[in-house]
Amino acid sequence: MIETAYIPSSGITGKLKRLKARLLERDPLAISPEQLVISITFDDFPKSAVKAGRAELEKRGWRGTWYAAAGFAGTDTHHGRMFDADDLRQLEEAGHEIACHTLNHTDLGQASAEVTRAQTEANREALQQLGLKSGLPAFAYPFGEASPSSKRVLSSRFKTLRGVRPGINRKGDDRNLLKAVGMDGSESGLMKAHAFIDEGMARPGWLIFYAHDIQSSPTEWGCTPDEFAGLLDHIQKSGAKVLPVTPAYRWLTAS
Ligand SMILES: [Zn+2]
Repeated sequence: MIETAYIPSSGITGKLKRLKARLLERDPLAISPEQLVISITFDDFPKSAVKAGRAELEKRGWRGTWYAAAGFAGTDTHHGRMFDADDLRQLEEAGHEIACHTLNHTDLGQASAEVTRAQTEANREALQQLGLKSGLPAFAYPFGEASPSSKRVLSSRFKTLRGVRPGINRKGDDRNLLKAVGMDGSESGLMKAHAFIDEGMARPGWLIFYAHDIQSSPTEWGCTPDEFAGLLDHIQKSGAKVLPVTPAYRWLTAS
């Protein structure tokens, strides 16, 4: 069965919930890098991202962070055929970071504390059953949707919690809801992604990108292999330090 895309609540109620999620349960970052640090991440994630994304990163000597929802393993979604146990193992063996999502891609903006805990623990166990060795220190909220309650529950369980609100993370920004920029949205979206690299060169911080499918006819949440490579070329020219999320966080917070 091919899952259709779930769209989180919008309108005034959704906006107020998101505002509350941003303002409460914050853990301000104490980072002031003199050099731009960039992490390239993948959400969910389809085989097209493993194929194109991995090759482009490794060609440049880089590694990425892959947020896996074990419920997607071996299935087909609107992003196409999803990752499987072999992909996880090969990515991990090649030095990439596998990171945590929820088991069933649950919207944690709506879920109770109990469901939040159960979904993340079940995902951890399922990924271990698929052969994962990592301790999963990094987490991304499905759809970028958080709540004060989910932030509270996950803050002590993970080193970093990532959302999808665009921006560069700097001193005072929230470890419990890190900003991230999509490598998507066709030409206008990708122009914004390129602009963030320039902004980060002018004013260093921690810039986290996320990608979904990487294929010749991408979804609105994806991009083409050429568009992906173009962004990586720009990052390479910027001279930024490129690290997966957990090594980047460790590097940024080491005093
Ligand atoms: Zn996701």
